[in-house]
Amino acid sequence: MNAPATTELPVVVIGAGPAGLAAAAHLLDRGIEPLVLEAGPTAGAAVREWSHVRLFSTWGEVVDPAAEKLLAPTGWTRPDPATYPSGGDWADFYLQPLADVLGDRVRTGATVTGVSRTGRDRIVDADREQQPFVVHVAHAGGREERVLARAVIDASGTWATPSPAGGSGLPALGEKGAVDRITYRVPDLEDPTARARYAGRRTAVIGSGASAFTALAYLADLAKSDDGAGTKGVWILRRGMSGSTFGGGEADQLPARGALGLAAKAAVEDGHADAVTGFRTEAIERDPDGRLIVVGEDGRRLDPVDEVIVLTGFRPDLSFLGELRLGLDERLQAPVALAPLIDPNQHSCGTVYPHGHRELSHPEQGVYLVGMKSYGRAPTFLAMTGYEQVRSVAAAIAGDLDAADRVELTLPETGVCGGAGLFDAPDAARADGGGCAPAPQLVRLGTPAVVAAPAEQAPAGGCCGS
Ligand SMILES: Cc1cc2nc3c(=O)[nH]c(=O)nc-3n(C[C@H](O)[C@H](O)[C@H](O)COP(=O)(O)OP(=O)(O)OC[C@H]3O[C@@H](n4cnc5c(N)ncnc54)[C@H](O)[C@@H]3O)c2cc1C
Repeated sequence: MNAPATTELPVVVIGAGPAGLAAAAHLLDRGIEPLVLEAGPTAGAAVREWSHVRLFSTWGEVVDPAAEKLLAPTGWTRPDPATYPSGGDWADFYLQPLADVLGDRVRTGATVTGVSRTGRDRIVDADREQQPFVVHVAHAGGREERVLARAVIDASGTWATPSPAGGSGLPALGEKGAVDRITYRVPDLEDPTARARYAGRRTAVIGSGASAFTALAYLADLAKSDDGAGTKGVWILRRGMSGSTFGGGEADQLPARGALGLAAKAAVEDGHADAVTGFRTEAIERDPDGRLIVVGEDGRRLDPVDEVIVLTGFRPDLSFLGELRLGLDERLQAPVALAPLIDPNQHSCGTVYPHGHRELSHPEQGVYLVGMKSYGRAPTFLAMTGYEQVRSVAAAIAGDLDAADRVELTLPETGVCGGAGLFDAPDAARADGGGCAPAPQLVRLGTPAVVAAPAEQAPAGGCCGS
């Protein structure tokens, strides 16, 4: 059978999260048929897993313009743009209605297991660009399917592949065996089962991003509540303490994001968490009571904890893209042209400029990694960045390069200056000339466990990880 002409084929979008659904809306707006393949049982399946977490972005910042245009005729009303949704709100009041209006263009329970060029493995050059993409799909019932596509937009996020506790990026020795007492997500402490798990217990929180801040603040709230007496956090950071440890605070242009860091700071200052700095986790051992002892590369052994919450960021799952010719940065696993803009080793102030199809292109034409996945291992991804990405990518696929190259977004700053490598060297950070406030200042926290640490390399982490 002859393959259909490539332009008659749909654009396959992998993942029905905020970026994937927005991509579908932008494609439709340009008269191009999207086919969104979602592994989970519903649209926004990953966002639903953190339903209890309140976004630091307002509704006004997390609704894509093309999606809003598509939703408008259905009578959908945009929630108050000045208010902050939870993950559950985002899924219920925006992602699901958007998936509904896209109808059978969104297929759930459909996991993409491989992407290639039809009849061409990664090695073969001949007529490569003329061949449609072939996408292998595993359906929830066990059925396998092969879908042809004119282009592929991978918006599959990084949620399913959290980074481990080990300071070297590998699982710590014993980490896998201790999984009964470890979670890689911010627990929902309003849920009675989760609450009982952490109430009155000693919990290590490993990581230094917004998710770690959130977990520390939740544990502090629990400690202050009637049923939470004795709840204690042990905050484990690879870095030392500096003015930027708690994010940009009041200098963050997203106030709620800044507030997360301030809440974590309060948790430490109020004695609900002890900070252990300059600590690279090497092993997780058990004591005779089954509690966990976190061991550092420098030989430090922390007092036993009942639970460990690992929030060291996320990393992209590239396993199903192995037959494509991707150009990925060797450190971040982000597209090579995007990586320097978001590299926490170099990047100052979180002011990534809005970007689109050019920064997201690969040697393999017609394939794009967008949304959270486009950042690879870099932190601070924002949904609005993803919406601008997919607007540009959809325009490029439609052949409208003028629109694809136009920038239609200004991104907020984090208020955190200096690349991560400078975080423990405030004078050097100021010399960096980033020009943002605040310049990092060393802070002294009144916790005996705080010890000086050498300068650290990049904080591992996703938006909300590390
Ligand atoms: C706790 C938390 C809080 C955040 N808060 C904010 C915030 O306040 N503001 C902000 O701008 N950003 C925030 N972010 C960052 C980011 O905007 C969100 O993570 C957003 O959900 C990213 O959207 P996405 O579509 O790229 O990825 P996801 O939301 O992760 O969606 C990817 C989808 O792809 C599916 N999928 C994965 N693999 C496959 C496969 N092989 N085949 C088919 N489907 C697949 C998943 O099931 C998922 O539904 C937050 C992130 C987290 C984790």
